[in-house]
Amino acid sequence: MFHRTLMAAFAVFVSALPVSAETFPDRTVQLIVPYAAGGPTDVVARLLSEAMGRDLGQSVVVENVTGAGGTLGASRVAQAKPDGYTVLLHHINMATTPTLYRRLPYDPVNGFEPIGLVTPVPMTILGRRDLPANTLAELVEWLRAKGEGANLADAGLGAASQLCGTLLQHSIGTRVTTVPVRGTAPAMQELLSGRVDVLCDQTTQTLEYIRNGSVKVFAVTTPQRLSVLPDVPTTAEGGQPGVQVMIWHGLYAPQGTPRAVVDRLSRALQFALRDPKLIQRFADMGTVPESQERATPDAHRAFWASEVQRWRPILQAAGQYAD
Ligand code: ASP
Repeated sequence: MFHRTLMAAFAVFVSALPVSAETFPDRTVQLIVPYAAGGPTDVVARLLSEAMGRDLGQSVVVENVTGAGGTLGASRVAQAKPDGYTVLLHHINMATTPTLYRRLPYDPVNGFEPIGLVTPVPMTILGRRDLPANTLAELVEWLRAKGEGANLADAGLGAASQLCGTLLQHSIGTRVTTVPVRGTAPAMQELLSGRVDVLCDQTTQTLEYIRNGSVKVFAVTTPQRLSVLPDVPTTAEGGQPGVQVMIWHGLYAPQGTPRAVVDRLSRALQFALRDPKLIQRFADMGTVPESQERATPDAHRAFWASEVQRWRPILQAAGQYAD
């Protein structure tokens, strides 16, 4: 009995010890991805986890915590122990949720310590292979004619697919039916099977399907065409300049994680972003790693804050905000 009490007291003592930045990490780091496995965010996470693990000398294990537009995964990390062993890979959701949601089980701005920016990823507007439209203008015409008879898959309020879908519907002045999914990996399956008509998704998933001809591509959401898709017009060229969005990814630790631990994770991120294999895989998916300077907590924090400000009026104009 005495022994057990002593053990319990010891356990409490150990868990209350400050995290040692010198020995961090001395066990597996968990990387939470807020969308489904196999999707465009997950792909980035898996490349990152492998390379970061090499630098950290510990495995970095990806776990998909999906649902609620990517807020469930964020919530898991915000509520985790701030010791650097639970980190989040998230995207532009971190800039839109402060406007989109009135109440969340975490603070979407102050609940995290930014570690560094990872990669900017363009989006593509896709249709099922047998959709009658062949250009963005024809797609717009088709969507306007169908209205709610047309459907678009998206991963919920706060997802990139939802953001892009909202911009498109707002820009063309037509509402379509949205089909909710837990990530764009399942959304792509819906599109391939023809159960949904349209999907807007990151190139980190879509290039493969565009290249093998199993989906139709109507536009890229960037101001310039992409070198990996030179024949695909931009949304502006296709007559919808309001549909512009670049998805950016960043790494986060829970608020209160010691700065030395955040810095150690940031150095591992920088190592990963210099890795030739990762750079090549990113290039194959239409993206590039962020610069070493941007893969730092301070650059990430400043960019994140600017993105929250930038998206607020755009979301408000599109009627997407919590009042
Ligand atoms: N693209 C996300 C994914 O990785 C979902 C989204 O943001 O739409 O599944």
